[in-house]
Amino acid sequence: MVRRNPNIIITGTPGVGKTTHAEQLARNTGFKHLSVNQIVKDEGLHEGKDEETGSWIVDEDKLLDHLETITPSIPNEGGYIIDWHACDLFPERWIDLVIVLRCDSSVLYDRLTGRGYQGKKLEENMDAEIMQVLLEEARESYKEEIVVELRSEENGDLEGNLERIEQWVEGWRKDNEGREEEEE
Ligand code: ADP
Repeated sequence: MVRRNPNIIITGTPGVGKTTHAEQLARNTGFKHLSVNQIVKDEGLHEGKDEETGSWIVDEDKLLDHLETITPSIPNEGGYIIDWHACDLFPERWIDLVIVLRCDSSVLYDRLTGRGYQGKKLEENMDAEIMQVLLEEARESYKEEIVVELRSEENGDLEGNLERIEQWVEGWRKDNEGREEEEE
C-alpha cells in the first residue's frame, strides 16, 4: 500500500528549532505534530531524571511499545511530523524525509542558557551540535538522499525552510499520485 502523505522527521540538538518548525509546518500542511518529548513526559515513559543534567532518562522500549499502539497509521496513512532529538527510532521504511536543523554555536548558546541550561547539560548539548552528532546519526540511520540539513538561526531561515519543505511535500504528493496510478 502506498501512503497518501509523507512522514517527516525534524531532528537536531535541543534548541535548534525543532518544535517551532514542526508546529508551524503542522499548521500549514494539516499534518500531525508528534512531539516525542511531550509523549515521554505525558505517558511517563522514562526512568526519572538524570540527577546531573536534569534531563528525562527515556525508556526506549516503553516508548516504542507506546508509539506502536498509538501510531499504526504512521506507515499506512502518513502525514506525521516527528519531532525529537533522536531519529533512529523509526523504521527506515516509514520515513520519507529527515530534516536536521543546525545552528551556529553562539546562537545555540544564547538559546540554551535562556532556557536555563547550565553546567554539564549545556556543555553536552553544545558539544553535540559542534560535533554534528544528530546529522551523523541521521545519515547512519536513513538513506543519504532523504536527509536534509537546514540552518535555523533567524526568522528568515524558518520561513525559507518551511517554504522548502512544503514545496517538497507537494512534489512528493505528485510523485505519489503517479505511483498510485501505476499500481492500479
Ligand atoms: P527545539 O524544539 O529544537 O528544542 P525550539 O523550537 O523550542 O527548539 O526553539 C528554541 C528557541 O529558539 C525558541 O525560543 C525559538 O523561538 C527560537 N528559534 C528556533 N528557531 C528559530 C529561528 N529559525 N529563528 C529565530 N528563532 C528561532
